[in-house]
Amino acid sequence: MAKATEVSNGAQIEMGKPYFCQECKRNHTKGKIYKEHLKFATAIEDEENPDEMVSNNELDEENGEAADYDDNFEDIEVEENIDFLDTEDDLEDEENPDNDEIADDIDDDDVNLDNGADACVEAVKKLPGVGEATLKKLIKSGFNSLESIAYTPPSIIQEESGLGEKTIVKLIKSSMDKLNIGFKSAEDVWEHRRTIAKILTGSQELDDLLGGGIETGSVTEFFGEFRTGKTQLAHQLCVNVQLTREHGGLEGNALYIDTEGTFRPERIIQMADGLDLDHKQVLKNIIFGRAYNSDHQILLIKEAANIIKEKNIKLIIVDSIIGHFRSEYIGRGTLANRQQTINSHLHDLLRLSEINPELAVVVTNQVQSKPDVFYGNPLQAAGGNIIAHGSTIRIYLRKGKGEQRVAKIVDAPHLPEGEAVFSITENGITD
Ligand code: ADP
Ligand code: MG
Repeated sequence: MAKATEVSNGAQIEMGKPYFCQECKRNHTKGKIYKEHLKFATAIEDEENPDEMVSNNELDEENGEAADYDDNFEDIEVEENIDFLDTEDDLEDEENPDNDEIADDIDDDDVNLDNGADACVEAVKKLPGVGEATLKKLIKSGFNSLESIAYTPPSIIQEESGLGEKTIVKLIKSSMDKLNIGFKSAEDVWEHRRTIAKILTGSQELDDLLGGGIETGSVTEFFGEFRTGKTQLAHQLCVNVQLTREHGGLEGNALYIDTEGTFRPERIIQMADGLDLDHKQVLKNIIFGRAYNSDHQILLIKEAANIIKEKNIKLIIVDSIIGHFRSEYIGRGTLANRQQTINSHLHDLLRLSEINPELAVVVTNQVQSKPDVFYGNPLQAAGGNIIAHGSTIRIYLRKGKGEQRVAKIVDAPHLPEGEAVFSITENGITD
């Protein structure tokens, strides 16, 4: 599969590094070109490799993975009119739900320095040494709060903003000072943990298992076989996050990154109706981005940083996180490379949840069977240890009777192991 990073005439390009593009005859830096380039790369990909699903299947057979894994791709379809992540229009333009423009707005040259949000931007502006130009660069690359600067490794800020190393080190140091980052007492940590907001899932039992719902400030991973309800849960959370706090929501919007083509607005409508919500409004409050390959997926998450505050996003879904990586990084030879890329993608997500304490991140993951396990559950989340260490809370889903599904906590720093049964109905997730 052609990837954006491979398009430049065979030159070795590292994600995020500037490079000379043969297609456009100029140097590209992070951000802008990826967008244009991905259009280009996608076009190439379509011509060269119309049969992506075949390569998925081949991969599975090659690795001796479960045959039913193929089912997962059953829902993939070639959609002509796909909504791209479009910051302006998807929220505002209800006349035109099938808007098929690429999200140009995000990278626009004219960065609006006083865009809505902006005590956070004000704080960045007040950092010593931040003039108009530096501020523009920071905001354009998504560093629009002290937290976003303080929690991001300098190399990444440098890559994305183009600012000099020394400047960045100073910025990080002064952001940390301002935020009072350093050692604190356990009492302070507890004070913070107590105030963590949660999104209800629709099933009381599942909420109880999760200690009150899906936590903000963390990454939650649902993994399981096909039809175990991962995508349904993702849909439900996009609706529930919009509820008032008394009703278990966060009064916020959702960003849905779909890598498998299984997002269905129809389901959102049914779930919204089930809660007596205005489904038109509920749909408007979900920003949708279809990721066509792993680079695109990574890019969408990088760009998400720019719109979280502006669009009041309180939930990010990536459904599923691993699929593209599995099909693109074929063969054992590239395994290390793949793990490294997934790792950095997951850290982007973790960082987003840390930088935005009111944000919950939920990812889904496919399972693969590991035939070499003789006892215990042979089903393991795809992506191996990398995913396991990147997600804060992991929940394994399996089928029960009929519409019932069973959720089991596999890994959570503060929750006891346990199971919950919930149901998937026409109106969504319930007990
Ligand atoms: P996955 O874990 O593969 O993402 P899904 O979340 O797509 O699985 O779950 C699919 C299941 O959801 C179906 O098998 C069905 O049981 C249930 N489901 C989907 N749509 C509806 C609906 N409209 N009414 C009731 N149940 C549904
Ligand atoms: Mg799914």
